[in-house]
Amino acid sequence: MSTPSPAGGLRQMRPGSVSADNPQGSVLADNAPEARELGLYVHVPFCAKRCGYCSFNTAPLEDGAMVRYLEALRREIDLLGALAWAPRVRLSTIFLGGGTPSLLTADELAAMLDRIRSHFELVADAEITVECNPESVTRDKLAGYRTAGVNRLSLGVQSLDDSILPRLGRLHDARGARAAFEAAREAGCDNLSVDLMYGLPGLDLDGWTRAVEAVLDWQPDHLSAYGLTLDAGSLWGAAGIEGLPTEDTQVDQYWRLARAAAARGLEHYEISNYARRGFRSRHNQIYWHAAEYLAAGPGACGFVGRMRYANVKATPRYCETLAGGDLPVASFEHLSERQRLGERLILGLRVSDGIPAALLETRLDGDSRLRGFVDEWRARTLLVDTGDRVRLTEAGFLLSDALFVELL
Ligand code: SF4
Repeated sequence: MSTPSPAGGLRQMRPGSVSADNPQGSVLADNAPEARELGLYVHVPFCAKRCGYCSFNTAPLEDGAMVRYLEALRREIDLLGALAWAPRVRLSTIFLGGGTPSLLTADELAAMLDRIRSHFELVADAEITVECNPESVTRDKLAGYRTAGVNRLSLGVQSLDDSILPRLGRLHDARGARAAFEAAREAGCDNLSVDLMYGLPGLDLDGWTRAVEAVLDWQPDHLSAYGLTLDAGSLWGAAGIEGLPTEDTQVDQYWRLARAAAARGLEHYEISNYARRGFRSRHNQIYWHAAEYLAAGPGACGFVGRMRYANVKATPRYCETLAGGDLPVASFEHLSERQRLGERLILGLRVSDGIPAALLETRLDGDSRLRGFVDEWRARTLLVDTGDRVRLTEAGFLLSDALFVELL
């Protein structure tokens, strides 16, 4: 149920060009994290059905596949936990993404989290998030997740238009989305996020406004809203799709949400994310702060020390690799100082807190063309200085891709 973002996906960030046919799990042994606290991303690579716009690493769930995957994941967690540096780190967040993690039963999820806890210390208030699709949850299942330790849910609603949802390939309708939200609250979830998408085929400004207002009426703690992108790996990216709103309409949809969310007291704290005060996604902030996180599951990407890496993408190969006793790292890249700076700039500027002005100055030093470009953004109030920090405005968020290309 993962969704594309307007300024580039996070979970599908490419780890670099170094790759090999053979697993290279030993690179994790050789690259200890610099931080004591890390995040952990766990990828669940199955969905009941593939959505037309989706380019994430997921496949229809076939008989026996979940059991094989969970066995491989258990081995991967054991191997990660056996790394010499593992006892020195603590996990501050765990994020189960996909795919559709809510295909897991509560018992399967509890066993997975227990396995992680058996190898890694968790901080006392660790954030544990599960992405859920409305049709795959019930109050009892979500209560079981909560008992297992899950304290945050992210619900993939995407749309409340019953003529658009089937076209997307979604399996729920608007009533089902609302019922899932209520089930989560009844199960005791007090940190609940909703995902919506704009720029969808057939979605006009009035329809978008109705969806936004309806979801805001539910009073979610967090709201993510992504503009549709036609990624190459998606069905729509390959075949095309008719009925897309114009670019002007998509811009209007962005502003309609930004203003409606502000009117309800949600802070627009990241390009695509809004939250009640105190409810920012801690896991995603690890990405945006260019901090370190481990990865588990097929195709999952991690970042430790100065190294970005990605696991074997195909689930059968992932399972085979772990059955052979190897960590399933397929590719890795040691970031140069310049790459690291570029990532800190573009990830940090995604967030409303922005970045230290001195960091931007380091990048601009000696590059008069880029300095002129940035000065123009400042003159247009797309980029503003606040004390010793610099940040994008909401208008700057909307155009941020153009700046990020320059800063990398
Ligand atoms: S639910 Fe749809 S969008 Fe989400 S990962 Fe599965 S196929 Fe992709």
